[in-house]
Amino acid sequence: MNNIKIKNSGEKINVGKIVCVGRNYSEHIKEMGSNTPDFPMIFMKPPSTIIYSGDKIIHPDYSENMHHEVELVLLIGETIKNAGDNSAERAIAGYGVGLDMTLRDIQFDCKAKGIPWEPAKSFDTCAVISDFVLKRDYNFTCDEKITLSVNGVVKQNSTLAHMIFKPVEIVKYISSRITLYKGDIIYTGTPEGVGRVVRGDKITASIAGIGSLENEII
Ligand code: MG
Repeated sequence: MNNIKIKNSGEKINVGKIVCVGRNYSEHIKEMGSNTPDFPMIFMKPPSTIIYSGDKIIHPDYSENMHHEVELVLLIGETIKNAGDNSAERAIAGYGVGLDMTLRDIQFDCKAKGIPWEPAKSFDTCAVISDFVLKRDYNFTCDEKITLSVNGVVKQNSTLAHMIFKPVEIVKYISSRITLYKGDIIYTGTPEGVGRVVRGDKITASIAGIGSLENEII
């Protein structure tokens, strides 16, 4: 069982499910040639795919085009169903940085065939997470800088202010479909600048004030 690690604390929380939001930054929607959704577009990754900063990201042999996607990740702290604004805000217990590693060639193939994205989004080591900062220890502004570099070259550089659906809206929407529990985490989408990584590349990523990651592709 994988854990959520809390920054500056020995506390660990068992990971529940991983829900991910796609198409949540307009510049990324443009670079992908996609349409802006009317509601958060969600998919899931299995909790067994989680790794941490310092761990290796394993490039599957069956893909020629693995992409990096840096994202704000929300930690859910209580059971919540059909949340309103206040209960959604209250249910967000903390924030972390994540990488939603994506097999872009497989994803394009899925899109072309009209089949689900799981083969592109769910594979071992595809869900990288940092330690999480608890809301009570951090004043979240939703304007934090979010960046990712590959081998020291900046590839993604934006701010959380550009999110189309903000954390509370995302939690409200997801909880209207599936009950959220303590330990569930939510990837909130990536800004523009996604791109290919190959074996040997080193990714560094951060969200100012929240956390950082360093992972090598093997
Ligand atoms: Mg993503």
